Amino acid sequence: MATYVLPELGYDYSALEPHVSGKIMELHHGKHHAAYVKGANETLEKIAAARDKGDFATLPLLEKQLAFHTSGHIMHSIFWRNLSPKGGGAPSGELATAINTHFGSFEGFKKQLTAAANTVMGSGWATLSWEPVAKRLITTQIYDHQSETAIGSVPILVFDAWEHAWYLQYQNVKASFFDALWNVVAWDDVAQRYAAATKVDLRLDQSAK
Ligand code: MN
Repeated sequence: MATYVLPELGYDYSALEPHVSGKIMELHHGKHHAAYVKGANETLEKIAAARDKGDFATLPLLEKQLAFHTSGHIMHSIFWRNLSPKGGGAPSGELATAINTHFGSFEGFKKQLTAAANTVMGSGWATLSWEPVAKRLITTQIYDHQSETAIGSVPILVFDAWEHAWYLQYQNVKASFFDALWNVVAWDDVAQRYAAATKVDLRLDQSAK
């Protein structure tokens, strides 16, 4: 059995319309995400083969591919569950309190994450992440699927800013895609990720001896 498998969506491809078209969802999940899963599995096999042969000449390239495909798989797995046809509105409970504490207000946070998504240069993501050293929420811009993030931080809400996520429907106006995404954010999923992330002890306490 493969190490990585394509997760099923919890809703139909057309369930997020009109915000995200069914055709985009079909291609995005069934082709793009599936390719990252395949790439991650194949790269693991290539690394094992290199190890068996004792020839690590291609290892730097394979490590780069492993990071890319594995991160692509993980980011999309979060993205699908961050969205729901019953989503939208605003968070509640501890997540809402944390957002207010770390971003001043929900509106301020929303503008910040939207700006992060809109200004990704090339292909990448904007995330709301739990940063376990300062124990706070931050936004990040991740390039490709894996670059420019703080090690140890956990993405809990991710916006896909790759062209494949929106071009078919929104053409050159990607800002409209991110505006639309807020209508389908599954805050219950984000809240569960927040609760899980804040419980993980990575032994990064700044006061530890
Ligand atoms: Mn994508």
